[in-house]
Amino acid sequence: MNNQERYETMYRRSIDDREAFWREQAELIHWHKPFDRVLDYDNPPFAQWFPGGLTNICYNAVDRHREERGDQTAIIWVSTEVEQRLEVSYRELYRQVNEMASLLLELGIVSGDRVLIYLPMIPEAIVAMLACVRIGAVHSVVFGGFAALALASRIDDASPKLIITADAGMRGGKVTPYKPLLVEGLAAIAVERPQVLVIDRGLATTPCPIAGEIDFASAIARHAGREVAPEWVESSHPSYILYTSGTTGRPKGAQRDTGGHMVAMRQSMQWIYGVQPGEVMFAGSDIGWVVGHSYIVYAPLLTGATTILYEGLPIRPDPGIWWSLVADYRVSCLFTSPTAIRLLKKTGADWIHAHDLSSLRTLFLAGEPLDKETHRWVTEALGIPVVDNYWQTETGWPILTNFAGLGLMELKFGSPTKPAFGYDMVLLDESGAELGPNTKGSLMIRPPLPPGCMSTIWGDDARFVQTYFSSARQMLYATFDYAIYDDDGYYFIMGRNDDVINVAGHRLGTREVEEALCTHPAVAEAAAVGIQDDLKGQEIEAFVVLMSHAAIPSEDELKAVVARQIGGIAKPKFLHVVPGLPKTRSGKVIRRAILAIAEGRDPGELPTIEDAKMLDVIRDAVQHR
Ligand code: ATP
Ligand code: MG
Repeated sequence: MNNQERYETMYRRSIDDREAFWREQAELIHWHKPFDRVLDYDNPPFAQWFPGGLTNICYNAVDRHREERGDQTAIIWVSTEVEQRLEVSYRELYRQVNEMASLLLELGIVSGDRVLIYLPMIPEAIVAMLACVRIGAVHSVVFGGFAALALASRIDDASPKLIITADAGMRGGKVTPYKPLLVEGLAAIAVERPQVLVIDRGLATTPCPIAGEIDFASAIARHAGREVAPEWVESSHPSYILYTSGTTGRPKGAQRDTGGHMVAMRQSMQWIYGVQPGEVMFAGSDIGWVVGHSYIVYAPLLTGATTILYEGLPIRPDPGIWWSLVADYRVSCLFTSPTAIRLLKKTGADWIHAHDLSSLRTLFLAGEPLDKETHRWVTEALGIPVVDNYWQTETGWPILTNFAGLGLMELKFGSPTKPAFGYDMVLLDESGAELGPNTKGSLMIRPPLPPGCMSTIWGDDARFVQTYFSSARQMLYATFDYAIYDDDGYYFIMGRNDDVINVAGHRLGTREVEEALCTHPAVAEAAAVGIQDDLKGQEIEAFVVLMSHAAIPSEDELKAVVARQIGGIAKPKFLHVVPGLPKTRSGKVIRRAILAIAEGRDPGELPTIEDAKMLDVIRDAVQHR
């Protein structure tokens, strides 16, 4: 069998013989008590995976490896912000997690309680996550860069008993104090005030005491050497809550279970990422995002691999930093976002070629569309396969991907390849009819969602059903993305449902226009929006960011590229060269903000924006139409 056939066989089985397939995958983890059934789907669309099974994530991610590989490094922490590197073995991780779990118990945290983690990229963040799941507490990690209001709304939603924070983080060499943001956030909450545990890194320049705060260093000292037995929880017990990026509106609190989550993580390492126990994985993301939860923390540790936790920017001290880490630590699998690669692309491939990357087998990219040009550029620069994988906070692991662990199928630039195991994909047209190949439609998943996908929206089952399962005639899970698949069954993501531009009755995805612009050698990235037009319904306005050293092309030349590739109808009416684009903290272009400004409206509250100055960049540009 070739790789293609091996995939088809396993994929078919994951759909047609679902229970047998997942029963086998479940053998990759330890069950304290075996599950009664593989799946309980008596109450659709709520799926319960491995009901009756008792297990514990921390036991699987730490205790199990302490016996088999105690001396192996579990976490490599590299901070280019505080110039520090640290290696934590599985044995040492076990010690730290137990002490932290003991402290949580002392603070009155019991199984089912929520703990909000608002920390920078430091090892204590991973230790805190694992300590929570060890005792059955539900963590809610809030990205360290979020400001007071974003924080307050997440505190209100999760009503945690405890918040774990630090005095400060650092970004690009600048101290970013956390405590003042937390103080402001706490002043705005409606729920009961949680306890606050503070890890003092000695970074904050001005003290900011919080009433009743607990100092981590002195508190943890009392728990030295303490061990806490793992709490055996039922498979569907919630392990964590994580909010979506908020690109399209109010973030949704995705609730993840325990058993299905672990099985999903473990099999994704086996089949998709192809990382074996003892190997090194580096996910250049943040623990505040789902890529961080899954591929910095849970999947590598559940596998007994080594994970790199990186605090810093990908271009500092220079754009070679990540490649030097790959060389230093013999990384075999690297995972990051197209945004990060486009940032590195701007500075050229020499930074890549300066390092020994012989250990690196595969680069995985996810989070937003990977345009063909960037895909080609990075593939050539690295000389290894680059896999686009498409998924969501909601699913926790890839929906569409290629399979490095199974043996890669042919890679097509611009395509995240094929459905991952258990994902039964459906494409629908506007009337809700199912589409065949080569026709663009809304991408849906026929439930039950596979293991690891969200169980519900935290505290709001009704919103879960309404949000994801009400858009079609049948009960299908809506991804809110447009896609198309070709005759070979390869999928292409065409943009989000609300990113459609309608020019004189022609429906275009923003992605198509952006993709065309990116084929111009001077263009590093692009964003397109459809602005209201009395005559045509909508007109296209495009914004492009150029490569650092490129000769500056004329606007007409760039517009012509789009006209040539898609047709005259897609030619942008306005096109601007800009220094950057407004993005979420997780690196996604916020088109709704660009559109609002382009149409002369107020973009409204954007609590998840990376750099609000980018809004002025867009304002400036549209003023010079
Ligand atoms: P919100 O749901 O709050 O509006 P969000 O959708 O950006 O925010 P995430 O869960 O972080 O929240 O992102 C998932 C989305 O990112 C997908 O639905 C898709 O639009 C986009 N995406 C992720 N990976 C890819 C990919 N490989 N190719 C194209 N788009 C991708
Ligand atoms: Mg979304």
